[in-house]
Amino acid sequence: MAVPYGRKSRSKSRMRRAANMKYSAMSYVSCSNCGAPKMPHYACGACGAYAGRVARPRIEE
Ligand SMILES: [Zn+2]
Repeated sequence: MAVPYGRKSRSKSRMRRAANMKYSAMSYVSCSNCGAPKMPHYACGACGAYAGRVARPRIEE
């Protein structure tokens, strides 16, 4: 038989969720255009290259 629902405190809910959270190291790859470290699937922050072309050109001041 079902047990009456008892509301968990915010602390208890967060404790439960925290047990499933895993910290992982930030992954990065080196840019194929300039070699700077960049996040995978993101345009390079240094030169703006993505998938072999410059997707986000740097605007020089
Ligand atoms: Zn680059």
